[in-house]
Amino acid sequence: MAIKKVLITRHGRKFYAKDLESDLHTQYGFVKKEDIEKSKEGDLIKSNTEKEFFIFSPSFIDLYRKIKRDAQIIPLKDIGFIIAETGINKESRILDAGSGSGALACFLASIAKEVVTYEIREDFIEVVKSNIGFLNLKNIKIKNKNIYEETDDKNIDVAILDVPEPWKAIENCSKALNPGGFLVSYSPSVPQVADFVNNLRKNESFVYLKTCEITEREWEVEERKVRPKSASIGHSGFMSFARKVTK
Ligand code: SAH
Repeated sequence: MAIKKVLITRHGRKFYAKDLESDLHTQYGFVKKEDIEKSKEGDLIKSNTEKEFFIFSPSFIDLYRKIKRDAQIIPLKDIGFIIAETGINKESRILDAGSGSGALACFLASIAKEVVTYEIREDFIEVVKSNIGFLNLKNIKIKNKNIYEETDDKNIDVAILDVPEPWKAIENCSKALNPGGFLVSYSPSVPQVADFVNNLRKNESFVYLKTCEITEREWEVEERKVRPKSASIGHSGFMSFARKVTK
């Protein structure tokens, strides 16, 4: 069901009004559907217990945080790094494999020209389709294909692999990428990085750039109690970057 409005308390607790057919129940009491319906962007409305909420329409990131997650999705800290390192922008044509829940594909589609995403599992393709519809994206193409075996895509600016054996997809990514295009591999474990980079170094079409891991540490700021939050995200994945240099 589509999310119509976002309600946020002064302390940053966020609630989503999914449809405007019923009251919105929160731990701070309920907000009447009529109040939500007649609200304007940025209005301050109150629940039956007088708790205040600011109300506005959801932005892309509000909706993105609510997508279905059946496969392990790539965290935002890593998406941000991939975008920054490869300079993905509104002109970019992206190849993504495998789709999983389509998190990366959807995020990139919100800023790039076009995304084609490969997935071997039909059950995941259904999740991706549902997320694309939920986010109302029009520029993603899903292919039920094995990236190790085939690709008919060309003129790709950035190819991103999040598959168990990324080294098996190097040749296909090479065919799809433009000269100067980037190949990125995202892997959770060290042997995958070793096999990917060692294979890449043997391939004359690519120049290997680097492998990185991004650590995000959130801080708690409460008066003068300012310190790292105790529970932070652990390891997610390593990112290896290469550049396609030949025609
Ligand atoms: N980056 C995704 C998560 C990918 S999970 C996200 O952010 O949501 C890895 C996915 O790759 C799984 O869904 C798996 O089915 C798919 N996969 C594994 N091998 C593949 C292959 N050879 N070709 C295409 N997809 C593959």
